[in-house]
Amino acid sequence: MRRSTIQRYGVSLMIVLPIMFVLIALGSQSQTSDADISSSTISSNDTQSEVTEWPNELPPTSTSEVVTSEPSAVATAISTSTPLPTTPKASLPRVGIQVGHWQTEALPDELARLRTSVGAIVGEYTETEVNASIAQRVVAQLQNEGIIVDLLPATIPPAYEADAFVSIHADGSTSTATNGFKLATSWRTSRASQQLHDAIRNEYATATGLPWDPSITVNMRGYYAFSYYRFTHTVARTTPSVIVEMGFLTNPSDRAMMLNEPDRIASGITQGILRYLRERDPHDREALIPPEFKTQRSRSAEGVTIRSRPDENASSTIFAPADARIRPFEERDGWYQVFVRVGEQRAIGWVQKELVVETNDPTPTPLPPLDS
Ligand SMILES: [Zn+2]
Repeated sequence: MRRSTIQRYGVSLMIVLPIMFVLIALGSQSQTSDADISSSTISSNDTQSEVTEWPNELPPTSTSEVVTSEPSAVATAISTSTPLPTTPKASLPRVGIQVGHWQTEALPDELARLRTSVGAIVGEYTETEVNASIAQRVVAQLQNEGIIVDLLPATIPPAYEADAFVSIHADGSTSTATNGFKLATSWRTSRASQQLHDAIRNEYATATGLPWDPSITVNMRGYYAFSYYRFTHTVARTTPSVIVEMGFLTNPSDRAMMLNEPDRIASGITQGILRYLRERDPHDREALIPPEFKTQRSRSAEGVTIRSRPDENASSTIFAPADARIRPFEERDGWYQVFVRVGEQRAIGWVQKELVVETNDPTPTPLPPLDS
């Protein structure tokens, strides 16, 4: 099943990629010379259109922590036979690079609502083309290092297993001044995903000089390809995964770098992946397991304040009455980062662990997705 899926992707990639780049080339030749990028409309914004995941649909608590390994002989979309000099052939790392929005029209029924998610479009530039251009370079750079790489469209193989999965996107904003890059992991982040995130963040900043954009969206963290607890065509629970927004297509400077210095952009991502693979402990299976948290409620009958940062003096994001469900997805220094729903309001913030207690109350009925 998995083998045939991958082989099918391999064939389609080999056929479609060259066609795609020819089309891109043709498209850029036929562009009008007076195209005014700065006044172009943004037909779609990543933060609004491409992902739909609300924290109410967090993974159910699971006791299963089985880490399975994939046979290394499975055919890949693009593979190399060059072994890493210091790594036994049997443990060659495998990396999945996803071209954001590529072939969304072919998404399976479970993701049908994303079939029209084309990403940012600025003038004659589409996010998918930029994503593909960079992703192809990342693939080549990783292959030069002896990594096995799968180049993946929007639809990824069910329960996709790899040593790292990186989804490549470019951002859009209504303001041309907004710039910078950002990365996100899924809501419940394994240590490995966090390490992959940190490594790419560091190397990308060094390679590109682009500023870090801290405005990580709910939609990035709920990216569909991470949501293994909800869909079939996603990464496996234990695949370290990040989504990268390389910069803003709507910002002239970010756009110029993505279009004119694609190797530089790609190398930032590649170096981050290589750093993660170099620094991780491949035997640390625990690092691959996302944390599980029990639903909490206020310890006090008065309720509890959810704060913007893990700091007693931080501003309040919402007040959670005693009956509100408080759903942790991260833990740090005696604090939980949590989702809270109060009436129609939904918020993310931090609460001190000592101010909440576990509750076995049934989970409320999930609300419709955030973007509906
Ligand atoms: Zn995108």
